Amino acid sequence: MIQNDTIVALATPSGPSAIAIIRLSGKDAIKIASLVFNSVGSKKLANQKTHTVHLGNIMDGDRVIDEVLATVFKNPKSYTGENVVEFSCHGSSYIQQEIIQLLLRKGCRMATAGEFTLQAFLNGKIDLSQAEAVADLIASDSKASHQLAMQQMRGGFTTEIEELRKQLLDFASLIELELDFSEEDIEFASRNDFQKLIKKTTLLLKNLIDSFSTGNVLKNGIPVAIIGRPNSGKSTLLNVLLNEERAIVSNVAGTTRDAIEDEITIDGIRFRFIDTAGLRNTKDEIEKIGVEKALEKLKNSAIYIYLFDITEMNMNEVKTELKKFSTTSRQLIVANKIDKASKSILKTINKDALSVISISAKKKESINELKNSLLNLAGKGALDKNHLIVTNSRHYDILLKSLEEIIKVQNGIDQNLSGDLLAIDLRQALYYLGEITGKVSNDDLLGNI
Ligand code: GDP
Repeated sequence: MIQNDTIVALATPSGPSAIAIIRLSGKDAIKIASLVFNSVGSKKLANQKTHTVHLGNIMDGDRVIDEVLATVFKNPKSYTGENVVEFSCHGSSYIQQEIIQLLLRKGCRMATAGEFTLQAFLNGKIDLSQAEAVADLIASDSKASHQLAMQQMRGGFTTEIEELRKQLLDFASLIELELDFSEEDIEFASRNDFQKLIKKTTLLLKNLIDSFSTGNVLKNGIPVAIIGRPNSGKSTLLNVLLNEERAIVSNVAGTTRDAIEDEITIDGIRFRFIDTAGLRNTKDEIEKIGVEKALEKLKNSAIYIYLFDITEMNMNEVKTELKKFSTTSRQLIVANKIDKASKSILKTINKDALSVISISAKKKESINELKNSLLNLAGKGALDKNHLIVTNSRHYDILLKSLEEIIKVQNGIDQNLSGDLLAIDLRQALYYLGEITGKVSNDDLLGNI
């Protein structure tokens, strides 16, 4: 990795806009910027304090390309930890390109994707999982995905991992020290304390691993399937849910984002109704195929709503039917058409052991209750309580590997294995844990990220 280069790139999206930002970072960022920037009042950029903004013109020889603001950040007080200059220019595509071309001719190199953040990591401004969170933050498009990215930016679970890793490292060193004194039968590392630490680590790793299924769907939107017999009211319910949200969205002034077909956001969490073609057009014959089709849908869902017509099916029939749908998806059983059900029928619902929500899709009754149940199933509670949640599949992978090694260490302790054998598994676990924060990294890993 060549760290002497000064890199340049457009920091804002390409295409016309009111303002565009062109960013330079590197040892010579201020020097190169000065070659093209004429400040009002002839100030020299190199003499300016860090975090100051200056008005001036970008000049290509005698030709003025644009009037811009130049913001100066001096090493190490910048995002990348290097000297950084940001030009805020008018956002014409032509101006953007002219300025970048000019800077390339003056000695900058075009930045590769993610390179500013890579520099920030290499210069120790952020750890690896924070660097990954930057991408998540930029991509966040709901309250939940934003909250998760912010949590990771602020250190998230890596602070705890790093703490445990340090303690484990101490034990590894002590155990290795014992090896030097093997003749004397000395124990520097208390097996009791070690055992406790391993237990604590195992618990944390397991919790984090479990949180991934929630984290992943919270971040990417939760696939929901609505299944049930024909005429149970599936398409009516879908339309109620979608239309309510559309109405909310279109009432917010200035929202121009097209609502994505079959997607709603409830309380900041995105739900995607999958495979609704048959539902939207109730005449669709495929929908009538029933169970087989439903099973297919379930495969792709994280949550499914099983909807039944309370006036047509009793609870025993519902139970029998539910047995056909063995799946790992979370389940929400919903009784529909309570508006036309008799009191005695309504009573049978509550008596039953299955927890059922009763609604009327047509009369829009208890739709909020249904939405709240969806939120609970989605793991909203964990998000609100700020539980540590893993959203990144690279982290998930490494956590699994770390746990495997920690379990080996645990087994080793149980079997009274000798220190040298324990140390090997422990070192391997430490290696994986270090990969999360980037204490252990290599070019391949960084390149991928
Ligand atoms: P699907 O085949 O499961 O998609 O069912 P539909 O949504 O097409 O509904 C079948 C019929 O039941 C339609 O005539 C709906 O108007 C009616 N329906 C749906 N929900 C309710 C409800 O809550 N109460 C009543 N009374 N009728 C409903």
